[in-house]
Amino acid sequence: MDCIFCKIIAGELPSKKVYEDEKILAFHDIAPAAPLHIIVVPKIHVESLNGVDAGNIDYVSEICLKIPGIARELKIADGYRVVTNIGDDGGQTVKHLHFHILGGRKLGFMG
Ligand code: AMP
Ligand code: ZN
Repeated sequence: MDCIFCKIIAGELPSKKVYEDEKILAFHDIAPAAPLHIIVVPKIHVESLNGVDAGNIDYVSEICLKIPGIARELKIADGYRVVTNIGDDGGQTVKHLHFHILGGRKLGFMG
């Protein structure tokens, strides 16, 4: 499958990892939209939040469970944003479910 994030998970493309366990991987965004911009992905290919079901919810739970610790580690736990884009109209360019963690500056309502 031609999926950038599956290739990063498989180690076929490089990434700057900040957290990894058996279910999820977190790495720096290649084009940061904030001083700290992390991408968190499940280690299975799910197209977007629309593809979440009983078979993969454990991976999404793991992401929710681990994001606060990742934010603490990066010293932004006092204030940050988590975003997931869904579909073309939602601005999703990589069709592998991912959560953006944005922080390191005062964020406005839409950015
Ligand atoms: P989205 O637009 O919500 O699909 O977000 C995709 C994100 O992935 C964008 O912020 C890109 O900058 C980021 N991205 C694309 N390719 C890579 C890569 N090879 N390594 C890290 N981040 C990437
Ligand atoms: Zn994928």
